[in-house]
Amino acid sequence: MPQAQPRLAGTEYTAPPEGTATPAAKDPAQVLADVFGYPSFRGRQREVVDTLIAGGDAVVLFPTGAGKSMCFQIPALCRPGTGVVISPLIALMKDQVGALTGAGVRAAALNSSVPAEEQARIAADLRNGTLDFLYVTPERVATAGFSRLLDGAAISLFAIDEAHCVSQWGHDFRPEYLQLASLAERYPGVPRVALTATADPHTQEDIRVRLKLETAQVFTTSFDRPNIRYEIVERVNQRQQLLDFLKRHKGESGIVYCLSRAKVEDIAGWLNEKGIRALPYHAGLDREIREANQDAFLLEENLVLVATVAFGMGIDKPDVRFVAHLDLPSSVEAYYQETGRAGRDGAPAEAWMAYGMADMVQRRRMIAEGEAPEEVKRAETAKLNALVGICETAGCRRQALLAHFGETYPKPCGNCDTCLSPVETWDGTEAAAKFLSAIYRTGQRFGAGHVIDVLLGKENDKIARFGHDKLSVYGIGKELSPKTWQSVARQLVAMGLVGVDHANYGALVLTDECRAVFRNERKVLLRRDRAAASLKASRGERSASLADDLDPEDRLLFERLRRLRTQIARENEVPPYVVFPDATLAGIAIARPVTSHALLAVSGVGQSKLDRYGSQIIDLVEAFEAGV
Ligand code: ADP
Ligand code: ZN
Repeated sequence: MPQAQPRLAGTEYTAPPEGTATPAAKDPAQVLADVFGYPSFRGRQREVVDTLIAGGDAVVLFPTGAGKSMCFQIPALCRPGTGVVISPLIALMKDQVGALTGAGVRAAALNSSVPAEEQARIAADLRNGTLDFLYVTPERVATAGFSRLLDGAAISLFAIDEAHCVSQWGHDFRPEYLQLASLAERYPGVPRVALTATADPHTQEDIRVRLKLETAQVFTTSFDRPNIRYEIVERVNQRQQLLDFLKRHKGESGIVYCLSRAKVEDIAGWLNEKGIRALPYHAGLDREIREANQDAFLLEENLVLVATVAFGMGIDKPDVRFVAHLDLPSSVEAYYQETGRAGRDGAPAEAWMAYGMADMVQRRRMIAEGEAPEEVKRAETAKLNALVGICETAGCRRQALLAHFGETYPKPCGNCDTCLSPVETWDGTEAAAKFLSAIYRTGQRFGAGHVIDVLLGKENDKIARFGHDKLSVYGIGKELSPKTWQSVARQLVAMGLVGVDHANYGALVLTDECRAVFRNERKVLLRRDRAAASLKASRGERSASLADDLDPEDRLLFERLRRLRTQIARENEVPPYVVFPDATLAGIAIARPVTSHALLAVSGVGQSKLDRYGSQIIDLVEAFEAGV
């Protein structure tokens, strides 16, 4: 029998770091198990928890999905008083308060959307010490009224979420965050923790200095997302390819990113025609529709959200099972952030992209035609090239991605397309020389399509009109298929051997670097494009979907548990993952608990959830075992 959720179990933690020996009123591991139902801390969670319980400050820089919330939720529950959590987005607050309340914790949010009488009740709870957590917006923290309220309350800690908002370096700068520095002086005895998934050195420094956390202990961890499988395919027929990909994720939720609003609408409409429930999201939609579609995505399972990059910031849905890109993102950073929205719950998830030559040409044109100064354009081009390099690599995608962020991943990951079915390479030196000659002979005025037609010796109007059938290069490339020539073209552009002239409708031109190829001084190693969908056949150690991990009978139970969860979620008007995450349902499907005790032993089942849903789950398992 497979082990329940091996990937979710954290590293066992033993000794607390030095100087943090103050005994806590409650045992953090016990709180983790009782309230959240998790058997162990993950990664460096325990170290952060111990630091805060001992009264120290912390800066936590963990990637999305690492489990930052536990880092402040556990110590706040262990220390006396209310934990004050500062969070920039009301939707995010609502999610977290909902999840905490679902786990039997007393949590509330104060923000502009809360009615006055409820605000008064929350304030009274805070003063009376009957609140475990208070979520507030940064602008409210800065008000005198809120300071007075806090002065009369016992505070266990301050948690500053999305702490990168204090830095002007990124795109999410929020001036109100600057005022949070005052908490250091006003409440010197209260531990503070700042958390973010943005780890670049500049942002880190801003957080430490601007939030007065210079003496705080900094916790970082690898930015690897081991549960995400990366796959980048050559775009041939994007609709069919997307459909094939979505077949691997039947009944699951995910995001499909497109570059333009028109394409978002188009793809969403088409998926619905194909019987896949999909909703569009982009900045051009009316606010109500946008919000309704976002809410539907958060609340429902089995929904594909087709979106522009306008969607995603602050989206906390842990059970996004896939992120698909139908267009190339703007940079490796953007790609990593967008794909990082998959699999926050630690269960298997997929990041899939279909990309082609046209992307590269279009992106380069967008940069070239933009208003930005030359040096910015150069930087943007370099960023684009880095991403194209990752798309065209014959090596491990994860290694290439992490290397981009300055991390060394020791060996090929075994959970990306190039690892699972290694890419063949071939000596393309001769093909490259032919292609470069054809560009040169046709006057560096044409796009890849025409150059390829000349190489293949096609007969058409354009060739006749320009007399290209008289050239020495006409028909010299018949040994390769049109598809292979496209692949050659794409890779030569990616390698910088061929340039794209945007002033001239994207004509291909020669670059300085290509001389070495002409002189036969440079060998050109090309990757062979794999047949579409070949990855489906090969399965690595890790699976790409949670259901894949289960044997057929467990999977049946898993599906029934999911239906029960949907029903419970509807009745309680909460998102399904607040009831139980997918990984917990998979754990139940494997363990088949028919007693409360056995159910409690499944990771993700705490006392409060047992009280609420235990009997329904056990009834279902019993019925299943009885063959009903
Ligand atoms: P982050 O804020 O770092 O993106 P979250 O705090 O949202 O991550 O946590 C991601 C998911 O991991 C949540 O579903 C959370 O319940 C789960 N999780 C956190 N800590 C643990 C743990 N120690 N064991 C099992 N699951 C955990
Ligand atoms: Zn790999």
